[in-house]
Amino acid sequence: MNPHILILGAPGAGKGTQSDNIVSEFGVEHVTTGDALRSNKGMDISHLGLEYDTPGEYMDKGELVPDPVVNEIVKTALEEADGYVLDGYPRNLDQAEYLSEITDLDVVLYLDVDEDVLVARLTGRRVCEECGATYHVEFSPPEEEGVCDECGGDLYQREDDSEETARERIRVYEENTAPVVEFYDDEGDLARVDGEGTPDEVWADVREAIESNA
Ligand code: ADP
Ligand code: AMP
Repeated sequence: MNPHILILGAPGAGKGTQSDNIVSEFGVEHVTTGDALRSNKGMDISHLGLEYDTPGEYMDKGELVPDPVVNEIVKTALEEADGYVLDGYPRNLDQAEYLSEITDLDVVLYLDVDEDVLVARLTGRRVCEECGATYHVEFSPPEEEGVCDECGGDLYQREDDSEETARERIRVYEENTAPVVEFYDDEGDLARVDGEGTPDEVWADVREAIESNA
């Protein structure tokens, strides 16, 4: 059976970048709530009686989308996956509790990156609108500006990667998600990886952590 891997880290820590490597190396599926929600930003959730009627309204402000919406997405995705790397979930302790009820984890990774580095990574991030490949204008630029190396698609900047929203997302992370990291640390199964090296250096440490924990 393919491994069940959880990758934790602040916005911009490199979870998506390393998840792509994990998928290629370990044959698991990339389950990411951020991508799933971006594809469903306009979904009508008014029947849930929440503050806003679509996920996009929470996302553009840098706030968390409410648990009932996100939990359902994760449950369905994990049921369908033969091994996974889960990225972007859980983002609060209630989600961590829910996750423990629906699946077992083999490896919990935490990418450790300082806040100043996070803001620079988020504001320079560019994503391919066709295939989702991720670039950085300075740290990981495409060969031709604005064009995806992989598929030739146009690159765009995520709406929530403005400096103001990036800082708000980091604040929301510190308030809601940092306790999730402590939760797994207290359980004794957190593999902490220094996320500030080059993507290749971080990948070497991530692979090593998975091989020694899975
Ligand atoms: P996350 O999924 O955790 O939000 P990403 O993987 O999308 O983070 O990375 C955020 C940005 O930082 C992207 O533009 C990516 O190209 C860049 N990046 C990722 N890892 C590194 C790294 N080790 N060094 C420099 N830049 C990186
Ligand atoms: P990400 O792509 O992981 O940076 O997520 C982008 C946005 O999607 C977040 O700022 C939230 O608004 C929303 N989101 C993603 N995952 C979750 C989650 N597990 N819980 C709540 N909101 C989420």
